[in-house]
Amino acid sequence: MQIPERVRRILAALEGAGYEAYAVGGCVRDSVLGREPQDWDITTSAAPREVKALFRRTVDTGIAHGTVTVLSGGDHFEVTTYRVDGTYSDGRHPDSVRFTPLLSEDLRRRDFTINAMACAADGTIVDLFGGREDLQNRLIRCVGDPDERFTEDALRILRAVRFSAQLDFQIEERTWNALRRHAPNLVHVSRERIFAELNKTILSDHPEKLMQVYEAGISPYLGGLFPGVSADHRAALLARDPAVRWAALCAEFTGERVSALLRGLKSDGRTIRNASLLVEELKRALPGSASDCRKRLSEIGPERFRDLLSLKKLGYGAEAEGGRAAAEAAAAYAERAVEKILASGDCISRDTLAVSGRDLISAGIRPGPEIGHAMDELFRYVLEHPEENRKETLLNLLGERGKGVGK
Ligand code: ATP
Ligand code: MG
Repeated sequence: MQIPERVRRILAALEGAGYEAYAVGGCVRDSVLGREPQDWDITTSAAPREVKALFRRTVDTGIAHGTVTVLSGGDHFEVTTYRVDGTYSDGRHPDSVRFTPLLSEDLRRRDFTINAMACAADGTIVDLFGGREDLQNRLIRCVGDPDERFTEDALRILRAVRFSAQLDFQIEERTWNALRRHAPNLVHVSRERIFAELNKTILSDHPEKLMQVYEAGISPYLGGLFPGVSADHRAALLARDPAVRWAALCAEFTGERVSALLRGLKSDGRTIRNASLLVEELKRALPGSASDCRKRLSEIGPERFRDLLSLKKLGYGAEAEGGRAAAEAAAAYAERAVEKILASGDCISRDTLAVSGRDLISAGIRPGPEIGHAMDELFRYVLEHPEENRKETLLNLLGERGKGVGK
């Protein structure tokens, strides 16, 4: 296995000082799979203060848990002392962590066999639980007794689902059965951590694996609004944007229900707003003329419009268009029309209307609600006649209509 130079240097520095040190966890898993690791974590027999003494630039990331971040060039690496997690009385946090001189004990505390391998500076892999074999067979399997592992930390239930989606692996049978039994423990896990795992699941190449959340009976412990969430493979073809993916999986929901589901999961506001807007938009027919496209753009903005088109092109919300074939045609038309509108710079927002409230006051309209009404009317007019978005033209129009405009 190939270890990057910077990581090898850290391992060598630790070994040179008489300690053991290995790359560990996700980076070993990903390298064996031939995937680019996101980050390289290091596990060592050195105590945190010994790690700090060896490197010039370090950050105390999680000293209590044995983690020191070593800065090297523009990169940073988490170096964690071999440790054993104490008992988990709350199914969430170990009550204590204890350092240990044994690599084997550090590997045993890890969640899945594929995440419990270490790799020495020379590329030798330490694989005590059959991680390589499980990678070969594409299986997510707990290290040790799955019942114990899910009792210790129920988040592992959703990590199993998440890794199975990211890697397109099956959850091994004993692990799956234990995971189902321990689903109620998820009430101990914070909504934020749950949401992070669910998001990683739906943003993966296999968002349809979210299905396992109700196949395993987990959904009642996640707010109960999951039934009806669809998880077909089409969602994998969408942008990796949580709002778009949630909208696809919840395409049959009302905006209100999507919003309730995501609020219950402590989602960020942007995802809630955009996902619920998109599911409502899926239920409407796409605009069929340039001026209707401008109107819709003025309501939802170009980004949401493009998101909406990406969904409609895949057949989401096809009923509103009169079926799949009609939906494809409607999406193709709207896409061309919208890109043309955006390229031409037509006014689709009040911000780019050629007149302002102040212009209207100078033109003799009384300050107050009338200004708003006149602006509304001019904006509607410009959406129909984009070529007329000029100050003079619009003020003339007001003049011609006299009292007509502004009522
Ligand atoms: P990713 O590529 O998503 O970062 P990862 O495997 O690196 O995947 P992390 O959450 O960064 O996952 O955790 C690093 C390692 O720490 C894991 O590979 C695993 O060995 C261990 N680990 C993380 N969370 C848990 C947990 N809840 N229970 C047991 N071991 C865990
Ligand atoms: Mg990681």
